[in-house]
This record gives sequence, structure tokens and C-alpha cells, in this order.
Amino acid sequence: MIADIRFWEQKASEGHYAIPHFNVWNAEMLMGVIDAAEELRAPIIISFGTGFVGNTSFEDFCYMMESMAKKATVPVILHWDHGRNWTILKNAADHCMNSVMRDASALPFEENIAEVKRCVDYFHRYNIPVEAELGHVGNETVYEEALAEYAYTDPAQAKEFVERTGCDSLAVAVGNVHGVYTAEPKIRFDIIEEVKKEVSVPLVLHGASGIGDEDIKKAIHCGIAKINIHTELCQAAMEAINAHKDEPFLALEREVRKAVKERAMYKIKLFGDDGRADE
Ligand SMILES: [Zn+2]
Repeated sequence: MIADIRFWEQKASEGHYAIPHFNVWNAEMLMGVIDAAEELRAPIIISFGTGFVGNTSFEDFCYMMESMAKKATVPVILHWDHGRNWTILKNAADHCMNSVMRDASALPFEENIAEVKRCVDYFHRYNIPVEAELGHVGNETVYEEALAEYAYTDPAQAKEFVERTGCDSLAVAVGNVHGVYTAEPKIRFDIIEEVKKEVSVPLVLHGASGIGDEDIKKAIHCGIAKINIHTELCQAAMEAINAHKDEPFLALEREVRKAVKERAMYKIKLFGDDGRADE
């Protein structure tokens, strides 16, 4: 069933677990994560973003996402990840998505606030919640270099940011980056804790692929309620492709779906999201 992200993020936040956000941009990934959610009775977020339009036509694929979300016996949220501008988000909302992220985190504080507020004012009229980001989670690069010039979330700004924008959830920059970590991630749990004290909206951790299990558990303990996974689904798919590369394409694709399912199930259990659909 299609579900409201606000309800499930809030529930996760109060229950000290995290709802998984899986980026999906082909049929195998989509079916794999839905399989995992069904088997573990887990609410999940399925998500698309601009980075995938070179591979998949969103305006067509969205209907498969929506159809599978509707038919699922567990709650499924349809989310647009890292919206770069209002037009992109409007297109997402016009094509089945019932939750959006406006990522203006590369802009200065006041401009980030103005831009997120503009989106919140618009999308709330259509009952679509908006995630925002304060501080800046960078893209894949050399991790040590990324940390040297890393824009951590400032807890002192978080309260003002949430109040003035009216955003529904807040993505934090705490040493996390997108893509593959080239060195051991150094997560600033103290910042998560401080931000959690300052704001009432659920907190989101991006770039969680490659962060160790114990650190993930600690991040949830400190207040993270939604965790984004993409890279690890791709890695699971690649491992399946390499292991079954001599098999017919039809059989190989089934292995990809299975590998994505297994990795998603691992994350669902790690996040404590299993069984939550029936609570
Ligand atoms: Zn992200």
C-alpha cells in the first residue's frame, strides 16, 4: 500500500529504528527491494532521482513503482531524492511521487532556507512532505579529501532552519558521503545527538552504504530515523552479475533481483525495520 513518509519516519524516530530508503532505477532493483519488504513485513521508501534518468525514463518507470507500491501488502513510500530545483520536484509530484527532497544544501544558509521554504509552501498544499538538507553531504571522491573541506551540519543552525523552512525531515552531514568510501567513515555521532536535541523532525542519513553495522546502530541510537542506501544495492547486483556472467541474460537478471533482495533484507534487519508494517 502507498504510505505517508511522515507517519513512518515519526514512528521510526519514536521507536528508535530507521526506515530504509532504497534508490531503485530498474525493474530488478525495484522488485528486489519490494520482495525484501514483503518477506520481512517492513515499511520501505522507494526512490528515484535525476542521476538515474540517463539509464531509465522516470516518466514511464514511475508507473511501475506506483503499481508495485499499491499492490504491496506493506507500506511503501514513493520518494524523489535530491531534487535540484522546483521544476524537477513538480515533475516528480506529477508522476506518482508522494514525498520529495529539495536539496539546496550547496547554497548558503539563507538561500537554502528560502529555497526549501518555497518548495514547502507549494508542496504542502498538495499534502506532499519535503525533506531538506543542512550542511552538505558530498558526492563520491577521495574520502580524506572530502573530510578536509567537509560542511558538517551546524546544530546551532538546525532549529532555525527547520522552523523557518517548515521542512518535514532533515538530512544531516556528519562525515557521511555518497558513493564508495575510500577510507573508514568517521561519523560525528555528537552532531547527530545535538541536532536531535534541537529539532523535532525526523533525521535522515544519506550515503549510508559502506558505513559499518555498529556505526549504523549507533547513528539510529543517536536519532537517525531514515537511512538512504543505493551503492550497496549496486554492489550486490554487480556481484551477482560477475558470479553468473556465463548464464543466459534472463537467468542472470533473476539473480540480480535475488541479490538486491538479500542486501535489502540485511539492511532492513540492521535498521530494526523488520516486522514494523504490522505494529
Ligand atoms: Zn543522498
